Amino acid sequence: MSAKIAEDKLAEIIIEQDELQNRIEEMGREITDAYEPGTELRLVCILRGAVMFMADLSQSINMPVTFDFMEVSSYSGTESTGTVRIIKDLEDAISGEHVLIVEDIIDTGLTLRNVVDMLETRKPASIKVATLLDKPERRDYKHIDVDFNGFEIPDKFVVGYGLDYEEKYRNLPFIGVLEEGEYN
Ligand code: 5GP
Repeated sequence: MSAKIAEDKLAEIIIEQDELQNRIEEMGREITDAYEPGTELRLVCILRGAVMFMADLSQSINMPVTFDFMEVSSYSGTESTGTVRIIKDLEDAISGEHVLIVEDIIDTGLTLRNVVDMLETRKPASIKVATLLDKPERRDYKHIDVDFNGFEIPDKFVVGYGLDYEEKYRNLPFIGVLEEGEYN
């Protein structure tokens, strides 16, 4: 019912629920294939937008995984502010661990660049990045390697499947674009 109410404010759905789920299952297989058998993977969820993606993705990864969570802030409203600070750090050390950063969306790349740089100083065995969505047109930080990318999308402000506008719309099971008046 809440999805129905929010749906009235959407201009369009750009990725339907079944398309999302199919691609996420495929990404799980790609990730499994990318590591040596027997590797244990530390999934690092970037809060809060990647929660749903990580929950679903992890179920399609066929190797032992552990979860940790990090919250950083680089965004207010719909404009990137250019700085990143840690709001909640990881619980566990990652030195010697194989880390997979799980991100909801890469826009300018600022958040990811900073998170990768911070985590690299902690000497993990490896760091890879999985993002559900990527807006390549917006990339300022071009030297970011994204190892696993769900969907490339156009430069529009999207919500749903974990992504919010002012903390709302995260519970939508699809990715949509809000009506202009909803955030302008
Ligand atoms: P970047 O640092 O790459 O510019 O921005 C990444 C962060 O900005 C994402 O983790 C996400 O929180 C937020 N963001 C960027 N684009 C969108 C968007 O279209 N919709 C929503 N809801 N958040 C976005």
